[in-house]
Amino acid sequence: MNFTSQSSRSIDVAIVGGGPAGAALATLLERAGYHCAIFEAGVFPRYHIGESLIPHTFGILDRLGLLPKLRISPYPEKYSVRFVSPTGKESTPFYFSETIDGEGARTWQVERSSFDQLCLSHAREQGADVRMCAAVEQVLFDGARATGVRVRPSEGDAYDMAARVVVDASGRSTVLGEQLGLKSSVPGLRKASLWSYYKGGRRLDGIDAGETTIFMIRNRGWFWYIPLPDDVVSVGVVASPDELFSGTQEKETIYAREVYACGPLMDRLRTAKRCAGVYGGPRELAYFNRQTSGDGWVMVGDARAFLDPIYSSGLYLALASAELAADSIRQALEANDLSAAKLGAFEARLMAGVDVIRRLIHAFYDPHFSFGEFVTRFPAQRRALVDCLVGDVLKDMSAFTAALEQATPPPPSLAVASG
Ligand SMILES: Cc1cc2nc3c(=O)[nH]c(=O)nc-3n(C[C@H](O)[C@H](O)[C@H](O)COP(=O)(O)OP(=O)(O)OC[C@H]3O[C@@H](n4cnc5c(N)ncnc54)[C@H](O)[C@@H]3O)c2cc1C
Repeated sequence: MNFTSQSSRSIDVAIVGGGPAGAALATLLERAGYHCAIFEAGVFPRYHIGESLIPHTFGILDRLGLLPKLRISPYPEKYSVRFVSPTGKESTPFYFSETIDGEGARTWQVERSSFDQLCLSHAREQGADVRMCAAVEQVLFDGARATGVRVRPSEGDAYDMAARVVVDASGRSTVLGEQLGLKSSVPGLRKASLWSYYKGGRRLDGIDAGETTIFMIRNRGWFWYIPLPDDVVSVGVVASPDELFSGTQEKETIYAREVYACGPLMDRLRTAKRCAGVYGGPRELAYFNRQTSGDGWVMVGDARAFLDPIYSSGLYLALASAELAADSIRQALEANDLSAAKLGAFEARLMAGVDVIRRLIHAFYDPHFSFGEFVTRFPAQRRALVDCLVGDVLKDMSAFTAALEQATPPPPSLAVASG
């Protein structure tokens, strides 16, 4: 194998993708003394969907050292979430300060182009070798062990880069999942999404100005309404692909049809003007990979799995999985044991948390389930429910999931094969 190094330092960890998961992982490993190269196919700043953070991200952002930058950012502060029924009946906003003290009770609605650039620049400041316009064509293997990556820069020849560990942080491209045939759809969860942006949508007053509003539509479909900087609001619909795309495949037509049909949303958009095209399409949102790690490799963030945007948990899980993986990778490198088991030691904890969120997603889409009735029936679980909604799920949630199973059938099992 013909390996090239463009760096004066040899690479411990090659990271495929410079999104939040890849950038966070590199930041933490560089700090621990392990040299990382990030290969990013795109040019930053670049557009990305996924703008609403949840409060439990606060601790990770703090540990990454990003809070000072976020505190002076133009991102709207998010203190709450509110649900609006199809007839316009509004829930009491759920303020994160009900269960979280201090500064961590608010988070941010981020413009992803600048947020992702901030995360990646931060990784570079910690010493990571960040290569833009450098798409990873494939992960290289010696037998079953990953040994490096083959990189195709947008200019110049492809080259191979050796690394002790390869991390797939390529988001929905799922480079390793595709290469190794590990990717599956998520049973019982078929949703698609279309979204766009408006200028001048109505904002609420005071600390409600930055809230996420969820507008429910028929058959448990829903819209997000996420205020962003510069008077822009992100507005997206999530529903069954059969419902959204029956009749026509024309995204503009479907999006306009859905927006106009949602009266309470239209009230907010009455004076607003669309300022972008329609993104998304009939492709199903949810997928997962049947492994998190193998000999010499690990997956983090969306490269591992993505379920559904309803609880805005994507960025939290991207950053949390990067933090957990950084710890396992550091220990594996220290022990010089780069086996699947050692590198993926974090998997059980991560996937238990993901499973709790998956159960709540299925509960949300169950037409016979009501969160209000659940907490009335199981008042002792109210706190745990709130913990889930803010993202605090990487802990023992067995009492909560047992109660949830009495209120709504559990989703079909994901047969997770560990590395
Ligand atoms: C409709 C929708 C709405 C969402 N809403 C929210 C929300 O409100 N809140 C939230 O927290 N999350 C949301 N998400 C999820 C969120 O977008 C993701 O969870 C998050 O971006 C994952 O971060 P990541 O770093 O794992 O991947 P990404 O952010 O996707 O980064 C992956 C990077 O890898 C690069 N890459 C891909 N292939 C290669 C390759 N071969 N070589 C090199 N580089 C490569 C890409 O260019 C990209 O920069 C939403 C998702 C969808 C689909």
